[in-house]
Amino acid sequence: MSTVVLLSKDAGLLPLLQAAFAEHAPEVRAVLLDDPAADEAQVAACWYPLAGSLGRLPALRLVHSVAAGVDHLGTDTSGPQVPMCRVVDPDHRRGMTEYVRWTVLNYHRDFDRVAAQQRHSQWLRHPQRPAGDFKVGVMGLGSLGAAIAADLAGAGYAVRGWARNPRDMAAVACYHGEAQFDAFLDGLDLLINLLPLTPATRGVLCARTFNHLAQGAAIVNGGRGQHLVIADLQQALASGQLRGAVLDVFEQEPLPADHPLWQLPGVVITPHMASAASHACIARQVAENTRRLLAGEALLNVVDPTTGY
Ligand code: NDP
Repeated sequence: MSTVVLLSKDAGLLPLLQAAFAEHAPEVRAVLLDDPAADEAQVAACWYPLAGSLGRLPALRLVHSVAAGVDHLGTDTSGPQVPMCRVVDPDHRRGMTEYVRWTVLNYHRDFDRVAAQQRHSQWLRHPQRPAGDFKVGVMGLGSLGAAIAADLAGAGYAVRGWARNPRDMAAVACYHGEAQFDAFLDGLDLLINLLPLTPATRGVLCARTFNHLAQGAAIVNGGRGQHLVIADLQQALASGQLRGAVLDVFEQEPLPADHPLWQLPGVVITPHMASAASHACIARQVAENTRRLLAGEALLNVVDPTTGY
């Protein structure tokens, strides 16, 4: 029986993951750091591991994120240089697609505006725009972004996508790299961020980016909190360059109760709920990569250490 150690600052998550391994991957013994069996663990399954945890695992050969992102692994740099993998759950795409559809309709059909009007008992219709006139840009065309861009194109929106490398997608105008970033942004009505957090993408949702969008555009941040420059958002909302923002992710989670974003007009806060891999899927994928590691087979969903995603 192989051993996987579970590491997270979220103590409530650990027993849930242990139960998922017991039910869905019983061939793996999932233990916590203080279990003597952790000394044999060649795999660590992590969500914001506490600093110093990975360095306590003498047999460690693989660090596995239990999420799609791997930026949270940066909270513990004590481990050896070993491969990193992440979870890619098809249900992740469904959850994110549902979330993004809601945000697109919110702005395309002016539900944000009528919700604000209702607070003043104001009956006011806005001109109905065909979906094809509403320009949506998706930053990141990976396992999530590509599915979302295709879904929105299928719903009739004018969709653009942006990635690091050239892409060819039916009904989505694809842009890539820094050189094409401005052309991607110019005149968008809605910008959706589904980038991974890396040194190259940190702060990408900033004044310079907002100024390329259509006047009164909106943004959706489904990536990571550190993608957004909050002061620039505040200013863009105040000036009317942006009409609104849906934010699902934050540098500090939970977002502190006294954080100014809670009260910022035009901002919708959701509690990092856009999409989550199921615990069953996490257990199965970590178990499969553990089997592959021990059998000397190629690992699945490996993170490129040079790009950080
Ligand atoms: P992937 O690794 O599959 O895709 C990443 C995409 O971003 C790729 O298209 C990649 O380009 C592009 N990209 C990366 N760096 C750059 C750059 N510097 N410039 C332009 N494009 C870039 O990631 P996923 O789709 O699985 O997930 C994306 C992120 O979504 C996660 O890292 C996580 O932060 C977030 N997330 C949020 C959730 C939530 O509930 N809010 C849930 C799950 C994930 P290329 O294709 O050329 O490599």
